[in-house]
Amino acid sequence: MFVGHKNGMHLVITGAPGTGKGTQAGVLKRKYGICHLSAGDMLREEIRKGTSVGKKLEPLLAKGSFAPDDLIIEMVSNRIDEKDCKQGFILDGFPRTINQAGALDNMLEEKGIKLNAVLEIMVPDNVIIERILGRYTCATCGESYSDKFHKPRVAGVCDICGGKKFSKRLDDTKETVEKRLKKYRELTYPTITYYKNEGILRGVDGNGAVDVVAKRIDSLLEK
Ligand SMILES: [Zn+2]
Repeated sequence: MFVGHKNGMHLVITGAPGTGKGTQAGVLKRKYGICHLSAGDMLREEIRKGTSVGKKLEPLLAKGSFAPDDLIIEMVSNRIDEKDCKQGFILDGFPRTINQAGALDNMLEEKGIKLNAVLEIMVPDNVIIERILGRYTCATCGESYSDKFHKPRVAGVCDICGGKKFSKRLDDTKETVEKRLKKYRELTYPTITYYKNEGILRGVDGNGAVDVVAKRIDSLLEK
């Protein structure tokens, strides 16, 4: 059986920062013609467009507060109703907490949508730390590179623009990465248990190259 073929593909992708879930979400978007809904990107987009949600969000985020659950749900709900999501969607970076997972279920139930699967991309902590510490971008065009997985073809020269200056994110230090992993575990692990109990959690070994992990996801979804 092909999951979700008849009524679209409705997925959640979850995993710690640095597991490559955003990249895999992009692969799934192209494969199934579904929309990739990244919570962070959506928040920025609402503010940029000056929507009613954006207007409520802007002062909160400016103060450094988190976006409240009801606003995020409203935003996701509106976004799912748009035309480019009619084949389905993949939610990335949401739900982040157990309350958000429950609220998402209620909202989807009202729309008559059932999640096909929740993909948990699993990568050991030491590999995540190595990946994040090893990543850098071209200072000119922003292309991402990695010491281990994606080096420029000519050392020190950007493949895309030929630039020779590279930069690292200042907050990519071992200490901050460990903090982000701890926070992820505290907040998001309960959602993993929640989806396990619903029987839709699919663990994916995320250790490996992008196409290798993509194949593992394919075989899980085609089961
Ligand atoms: Zn470049």
